Amino acid sequence: DKHRHSGIVEDCCCNYETVDHVNGEVLHPLLQELVKTPFFRYFKVRLWCNCPFWPDDGMCLLRDCSVCECPESEFPDSFKPNHRILPSDDLKCQEGKPQSAVDRTIDSKVFRGWTETDNPWTYDDETDNSEMTYVNLLLNPERYTGYSGSSARRIWDAVYSENCPKYPAEELCQEEKILYKLISGLHSSISVHIASDYLLDEATNLWGHNLEILYDRVLQYPNRVENLYFTFLFVLRAVTKAAEYLEQAEYDTGNPIDDLTTQSLMKQLLYNPKLQAACPLPFDEAKLWKGQRGPELKQKIQAQFKNISAVMDCVGCEKCRLWGKLQVSGLGTALKILFSVNGEENLVQTSKFACFIDPQLQMQRNEVIALMNLLNRLSESVKFVHEMGSAAERVVKGN
Ligand code: FAD
Repeated sequence: DKHRHSGIVEDCCCNYETVDHVNGEVLHPLLQELVKTPFFRYFKVRLWCNCPFWPDDGMCLLRDCSVCECPESEFPDSFKPNHRILPSDDLKCQEGKPQSAVDRTIDSKVFRGWTETDNPWTYDDETDNSEMTYVNLLLNPERYTGYSGSSARRIWDAVYSENCPKYPAEELCQEEKILYKLISGLHSSISVHIASDYLLDEATNLWGHNLEILYDRVLQYPNRVENLYFTFLFVLRAVTKAAEYLEQAEYDTGNPIDDLTTQSLMKQLLYNPKLQAACPLPFDEAKLWKGQRGPELKQKIQAQFKNISAVMDCVGCEKCRLWGKLQVSGLGTALKILFSVNGEENLVQTSKFACFIDPQLQMQRNEVIALMNLLNRLSESVKFVHEMGSAAERVVKGN
């Protein structure tokens, strides 16, 4: 079976069987509950097509392609504009200012309220509220939309060839390979969702699995399956690395019962004994950016990822654009957590100046929503590949 991988996921720290097991037992059930909570089901997004690269070639007119936006009465009060959000200045290093004399070691809280800090890895400026709408993700599932042809191809081509150097892997250093693998893993996950929720019969509006598509687009290429698992572990590592922050974060929607549920699900995910026993370090980011070219390389890759994020505005189908933007934003958040400009090294260094809060490690609410929804999507894809892989192979070979 080509799709049956075994051994350690390349560049990661756990093996395929463990990932399948922990995902099935722990992660998938928790994430499915988490994304249904009011906090995680509303995503703030600017949906109009603002493509900086190609002239507008017409929006997607397909029936299954448009997104239904939420009326303002539906989403939580705490998400509305003008609700208390810390300006990013508040979080900037106070070095040199009188306040820096305060010994912050006593105040060990890493979460200090949702911020509007920009993410250096992404192009989106979600702080511009005027053009934003809220989307209920549960009402707009990622699935087959019919978006294809030259418009879709142009996006993927741009993402791979303009921004992200091509294989062969031998010619790439570790870090560049990782960017390629993240994009390819996300692409696999999108294809898996198309295959798992496909319009089988337009006349009767029958939806279901399309295992041929699963095989043709993903399973027959072992690399695409590998990259899916890699991306899942990468994002999982980012989430567990930010555990302290994510544990303290306020999941406030105005309904205390809902908010407690969200908090509890997050805790169960972040400090899961089964996960910690099976796969304590899903990905080891400490190995990267070590060489002399490290800082330069990081900047280059940051710029490339930023371009990829800008290309998402050119996706010519609203629902695909929604999920494209959400998932790229989630990946950008994971990159920010793992490779923050002022990562751990700087935290230690700046501690001499009594400045412990790294503004880069502060997050926007929307970034956390994107991160957890992305993890859930990847978890669904890993589960589908694991469970349907053999059946897909039988279908294709029987033909
Ligand atoms: P594509 O998926 O378009 O692939 C193009 C080429 O990329 C392939 O020929 C192959 O060379 C390479 N490739 C494919 N997969 C991988 C991989 N995993 N790793 C490396 N290289 C790969 N369609 C929907 O129906 N629903 C959606 O929600 C949806 N969301 C989308 C979101 C984005 C951001 C984009 C760009 C497209 C989206 N689409 C969606 C369209 C969908 O991804 C495909 O483009 C479309 O279904 C046509 O598929 P295809 O078989 O021509 O190959």
